[in-house]
Amino acid sequence: MTERLYYHDAYLLDFQAQVQTCSPDGLRLILDRTAFYPTSGGQPHDLGTLGDHCVVDVIDEGDEIVHLLDSPWPSSTTSARGLIDVPRRLDHMRQHTAQHLLSAVMAEDFGLATVSFHLGAAASTVDVEPAAVSPATLLQIERRVNERLRENLSINVSYESAADAQGLRKESGRQGMLRIVSIASLDRSACGGTHLRHTGEIGMILLGGTEKVRQALRMEFVAGDRVLPRIRQSMQAEAELRARLADTDKSRKKLTIELAEASGQLRFAAAQPDAQGRVLWREEFPELDDALRAGVAAFVANPGAVAVLTGRSGAAVLFAAHPSLGIDCGKCLKPLLDAAGGRGGGSPRMAQGGLPEAAMLSALVDQLLA
Ligand SMILES: [Zn+2]
Repeated sequence: MTERLYYHDAYLLDFQAQVQTCSPDGLRLILDRTAFYPTSGGQPHDLGTLGDHCVVDVIDEGDEIVHLLDSPWPSSTTSARGLIDVPRRLDHMRQHTAQHLLSAVMAEDFGLATVSFHLGAAASTVDVEPAAVSPATLLQIERRVNERLRENLSINVSYESAADAQGLRKESGRQGMLRIVSIASLDRSACGGTHLRHTGEIGMILLGGTEKVRQALRMEFVAGDRVLPRIRQSMQAEAELRARLADTDKSRKKLTIELAEASGQLRFAAAQPDAQGRVLWREEFPELDDALRAGVAAFVANPGAVAVLTGRSGAAVLFAAHPSLGIDCGKCLKPLLDAAGGRGGGSPRMAQGGLPEAAMLSALVDQLLA
């Protein structure tokens, strides 16, 4: 029978033990005592070293704990120094203790029962019932669990017989002696895992996405040192999305201009010259924008073309003409605008401006084309 040192002290990460048995190939080692935690209760196994050998897996086989090694254990060596991979174990203790606290808060304040737990390499999950939890409730849970975390509640382990143990959050199916993990007066759970001494050591708990799994709601969470990388990851993803959106917007604007230019050319090709030999584009729009200006520029690139576009918004006018007509658009438009109390001007090829009222636009255009 292997003595489980992590039951008594989860912070014992360096220990000495005697070899009990070793498999013929030297890769499966059983000790009289160990601080290596085997995969169980939703918590993954520890990694670390025994002597010069790496421990690659730890398996709970009833009364014994088997250490799988990366290289054969020499049969002549009867004792071992074990060193646990500290960051990995402390991370597991934070995620696991966070789950106890999260499940306790959800049961106490939100009527949600935890039905299972999984500690993953990237994120952990708890399945709760009933599955109906609104996004607003999730935020309340997150706030409440972090409030309780900051109270730095003490976490203690006791042993009680299954028959006498009272007030457990979840009934234990086990008989005999139970290992009970208590968070102050908030929670009592039968558990064989590794836990922190105080809730404050968790650092912080961040809830992630949810998904419905059969009757339960699966909630993702990260705790401790996993929180900041997760937030940073989200911020980077957000920045990348913004950049991509900006690129898309730029491409869209470019395409709109190209489309307007093609449309201006088509308009000229389809138009007939008037009695004075001019090809005229006169039209009113709700608003004059860059695409219309591009369309006009393309239109008046053709000999004989003249365009007068108005926009009701801002009582705007755009006047452009091909040089073959001998019109100086700026010189024609500016005096008319000035006389009507408006503002504007431009080059011989294209001019624009605004009047005090949209109702005055039509008369201005008539004067321009007279
Ligand atoms: Zn536990």
